[in-house]
Amino acid sequence: MSSSDSIKWRRDIRNTITANLITSKFEKNEEGFMPHGLLEKIFENEKFSIEKILGLTSSNEDQDLLQFVKTSPKLFGIVALCQQDEYSRRRAMQLFKQHHYDDTELPLPEPFHDQDSDRTSVLATFEEDLNNTDEPIWEDWNVKEFFDAQRMFLTPRFDIRKDNEDFDRRIILPFIYKDVMPNKGTFGVLYKMEIHSSHIVGVADGEAFNPLVAVKHIIPKDKEEHQKIIKKWIKEADALRSMNKLRNSHIVRFITAFRQIGSPHNDMHLYLMFEWADGGNLRQLWRSPDMAKQCRSLARAVIEQIKGLASALNHAHNLPEGLQYRHGDLKPENILWFRGNGGLGTLKIGDWGEAKGHNVKTEFRPNNTTAGFGTRRYEASEVVTGLRTGRTGGALNRRSRLYDVWAMGCITLEFLVWLIYGPGGLEIFNASITGDPDTFYQIKQAGVEKVARVHDVAVQWMDDMAQDSSCKVGVTALGNLLEIVRQELLVVEVDYSVATGMPASRPMTPKPAAQSPRNLGVPDPKDTHTLPRSQLTVPNSSGAATKVSRTTQGFGSKPVRGKGRVRSDYFHHRMEEMVTGYDDDDYWSIGSTFRQIPAELEQLADDSRKLSAYRTEYQNTGMSTLDITEHMTIDYGKLRLGRDWTFNFDNGVASSIFQAVRKFGAGPSTASPSTAQLCYECSQLRDHIWRPTFRKLYYRDDLQSVALSGTCQLHSLFWRTCDQDRGAENDTVSFENVNSALRLNGGGDPVLNIVKDHGTVLGMGEEVQISFPELLPAGSHGHLEIVRQWLSHCNEKHINYGCRASKHRSTASGTDRPTRLIYVGEPGYNRVHLYQSTPSDTEPWIALSHQWGPDRSKHFSTNSSNVDDFMEELKFEDLPKTFSDAVKVTQELGCKYLWIDSLCIIQSGPRMDFDREAKRMEMVYSGAYCVLAASCASGHHSGFLQQRNPSEYLRMSTGVGNDANYSICQTIDRFNDHVLEGPLSKRGWVLQEHALARRTIFFTEHQTYFECGGGVRTETMTQMNNNLAALLGDPNFPAILSTAKLGERILRFQALYEQYSRLALSRDWDRPTAIDGLEQRLLSAMQLKGGFGVFDGGETRGLLRRSLLWHRGDEEASLQRIKSVNGKTPSWSWMAYTGGITYFSLDFKMYDWNDVVSPWTDGARGDTALVATARRFELRDKSEAKAKFKMDAGEGVESLQGLCIVLGRYKGDMSVDEKTHYVLLIAPKDNSARDSVVYERIGAGYLLGADMMHEEGEVTIV
Ligand SMILES: [Zn+2]
Ligand SMILES: [Zn+2]
Repeated sequence: MSSSDSIKWRRDIRNTITANLITSKFEKNEEGFMPHGLLEKIFENEKFSIEKILGLTSSNEDQDLLQFVKTSPKLFGIVALCQQDEYSRRRAMQLFKQHHYDDTELPLPEPFHDQDSDRTSVLATFEEDLNNTDEPIWEDWNVKEFFDAQRMFLTPRFDIRKDNEDFDRRIILPFIYKDVMPNKGTFGVLYKMEIHSSHIVGVADGEAFNPLVAVKHIIPKDKEEHQKIIKKWIKEADALRSMNKLRNSHIVRFITAFRQIGSPHNDMHLYLMFEWADGGNLRQLWRSPDMAKQCRSLARAVIEQIKGLASALNHAHNLPEGLQYRHGDLKPENILWFRGNGGLGTLKIGDWGEAKGHNVKTEFRPNNTTAGFGTRRYEASEVVTGLRTGRTGGALNRRSRLYDVWAMGCITLEFLVWLIYGPGGLEIFNASITGDPDTFYQIKQAGVEKVARVHDVAVQWMDDMAQDSSCKVGVTALGNLLEIVRQELLVVEVDYSVATGMPASRPMTPKPAAQSPRNLGVPDPKDTHTLPRSQLTVPNSSGAATKVSRTTQGFGSKPVRGKGRVRSDYFHHRMEEMVTGYDDDDYWSIGSTFRQIPAELEQLADDSRKLSAYRTEYQNTGMSTLDITEHMTIDYGKLRLGRDWTFNFDNGVASSIFQAVRKFGAGPSTASPSTAQLCYECSQLRDHIWRPTFRKLYYRDDLQSVALSGTCQLHSLFWRTCDQDRGAENDTVSFENVNSALRLNGGGDPVLNIVKDHGTVLGMGEEVQISFPELLPAGSHGHLEIVRQWLSHCNEKHINYGCRASKHRSTASGTDRPTRLIYVGEPGYNRVHLYQSTPSDTEPWIALSHQWGPDRSKHFSTNSSNVDDFMEELKFEDLPKTFSDAVKVTQELGCKYLWIDSLCIIQSGPRMDFDREAKRMEMVYSGAYCVLAASCASGHHSGFLQQRNPSEYLRMSTGVGNDANYSICQTIDRFNDHVLEGPLSKRGWVLQEHALARRTIFFTEHQTYFECGGGVRTETMTQMNNNLAALLGDPNFPAILSTAKLGERILRFQALYEQYSRLALSRDWDRPTAIDGLEQRLLSAMQLKGGFGVFDGGETRGLLRRSLLWHRGDEEASLQRIKSVNGKTPSWSWMAYTGGITYFSLDFKMYDWNDVVSPWTDGARGDTALVATARRFELRDKSEAKAKFKMDAGEGVESLQGLCIVLGRYKGDMSVDEKTHYVLLIAPKDNSARDSVVYERIGAGYLLGADMMHEEGEVTIV
């Protein structure tokens, strides 16, 4: 071919391909795709044959290539589009063949973006060893064309035998028609779509498959957790799959579930595909004018359909192997109408979104699940009255299978109304069932119990229907159906053992009391067992009240009429009974005229406005939703700041970390492809354990014996995990997947993390954390790169969190920079030295938080004699390991300045400036770029970049025989243990260093943690949050207090001071100093006066009183008064003592506060004077409920009488004598001078008013 021919030809093939593309309507921006199999047809055409396009000869080599190209028509099609000439096309195909890339490799991964390297694609790597003389065939422009073109050829086919698929977001899906349906499903949007017929596979021979399908796009409700939605989607798909297996013709057929992944914003795109119901739903059937015309003649068809629905319910409720599903949200909108060829068509139960699957065992677990969605119209009464188990007293699942039976009762009744009174009658009936909620039952409060009965209006309508000649019990089909509704379906009484499917409990349990009068109206089971229709009786119209009773019958193979509402198997059986064997016309015929609605029934339909409102509601939304949201009010009296962490992961950040770390090698060498040795049972878990729905229960003994046999590494890991944890206490232990981590027995913190290798996909619904199974070596480039990524993510994303120090901040202490800093320069800089700051400096600094270590002789610090040398040079080799590690990290993080207290403050000698510099800590820590916390360094010489404690993990693979692509790791995310309770945090100074720091990197012996306003990040890529730690982690500490309610403020500062009082200080008298910066911060943030660990809220009287009401911690034998250097700290301040303190916990808003003059009150009597009225007391009853004293000096010194000042007195209706009084116990300051008016605090406590004696007048406490 000549060159011009080639160009012309290329245009032809492009035109041909373009002309054959079909438009996908799935996305808003419609794109073309190549229908399956069409490309092959194009190349079969003589004009565009492969031989011609590539210029192939009959040589062996060419014939080999031809064979390869025939197996890869898509690659060939793409190449035909983006290569100019015969040579390039041929070479391109040769390269693919040579590198074993065929159609199965598609899509090729897009070129990877990396700031430090050029974009490289697989295509370019094919040509890496190209001779200089050769021109490359893959260049930027056609590489890009390749990635654009490959999309049109990769449109997948839906295999209707397959459960589900994940599609890359960029893949074009083969839907050629799309229309949004106004009906909302349980959650999400419903579309009518058509699949291109060549993109459906798996249709059995002779089976008809309608390419029109219903596609439900699941959309999360506001703020609903990612994981919750995924779980719902998986659960619904699981339920639907089980339904499919039943092959019941009255259950909507589920086709497949699919998900789009890889969206840049991590949006949720989850879908479920069903067969298309051409008639809409049952509500629409009732409203159809066409159906209205013939409805009287459709009685038999209606009853056949109800029988069919009963069979569907029966099958779903009683799956093989003890499995069961209940629908949980049956309503006319969820019963779909397939019109078929004339007549009524077929009704099928759809929307199993609320379905709950259980095996018999687990259903019995006391469980109070509420679905949270959907209408309450068809809700059964036990939702309100409750079901209780006799055995455990716990609440049972109120949406049991009998709940579905109730809903079918409502729907069947509506069907009857429709047949007997016509569509208009049904509207009026529906408008008459009113109430809040507008259910088919009504609730009456009987003492403490709630008693339900069938709605009066429904009962009246049923009574009226029973008068109609077409509705004669035992004579006509409708009469018998009505009887089934009122005697068997719309029955409020439920038998809990039937509800749960549990066999009866111990035989002696039924008490005479269970036969209460409320059992009225329920036929004896013996009598109704095989009830001939002639024996059906006219019912008692009141309906039976709810009363739980027991029978020995579970849902079983042989339907038996139990007590109360019947099970679906019995309902099904009754429908079969009434349909078969009665072919006489009289039985089925109901005449041609609708029954007149009696005036009194019509009046029940509230008023016409209500009626039309009802109509509008149903017509517009297709459903009536009454979502009940609970308005939570926080009761600070009960608020306790928890130590519970939430654990999440962020694969966006994890991916960028992995890409950055890849520069330093591919990650840890230990991420081996070989998988753990597993027993058969565990090898079955490999495709489940990472799923959000995974939960597995073990008997502890079984777990142990398999583990100890040494045959299975997963069993062993599970065993060790539960043995180390509290799971060991129970006979059974369960592992449950929550956010890509396993938790023991459904609670607590994670014990095992499921992490996958970067760039792998495990399967449907995966929500798996990307992480290394093993940490990178401490101090390695990779390790510090992770820290750098944390900081840069925080720099970029946390602009509003205040994680970064503002460059222009002024403080009360003058200049906003540390007096001295260590200049570290860039990595490898060899003249580290002390540096005197100047006012014009702006470069950021990093501060070190560390402990000095016990051996004072080994402390490395600046003093008056070495400071000048240090200004010249701090010899790197002389630096203790902790400091040299800090220098290294500072350099690696790109900071040039480092602040270390022992070096930047002159610690001793004539030039010592400790006292001045100690007051500037607030600025040093809060102004730092970040703080390095040497958590694992016990002193100056230990260093903190040391090997971390190893942790256990197993490598796993999806599918048998594959390379490992994920891991199960022992959880090492324990911020409480490793940081908050760690050795460094035991040091007094560190509390404010941590609190004042905007962001801190904690180097622990287990792993590195990063804390900023966004929470805590770990090296394992976990993200942790906690409301207690959030105060210390707050970059603008304590900003969260400035908006907090008073109660929360009090609890938070109390928790902080209780914590601080337990921290160690090498010099006791530093106790007020080492927290001074923090206290100043608290005071200014809350705009309060105060000091000495006390806040004075002025008019807000509780604040001062509560902060004075601290007492000796239970673990302290006594509190020692600190011999303060200047002796200024008053006795009523906990800062005057060593040892831990605890605050009295007084219920909020329950106390009246007495007058106290503090040093911050206007007209104060001195800097440390507390002035109040003293009272004498005498304890008569020392029982703890009435009185309790905690003496500061310890137990055994309390006396039964003495002096106190009253701070708070309990509110309430009792007499003053009965009220609890909170007091400070006081004694004259100098015992030798009895007439002294100056007092000291000696303890605190509470006592009753009855023990209070006369007032002693005003006293001063210092
Ligand atoms: Zn095993
Ligand atoms: Zn941040």
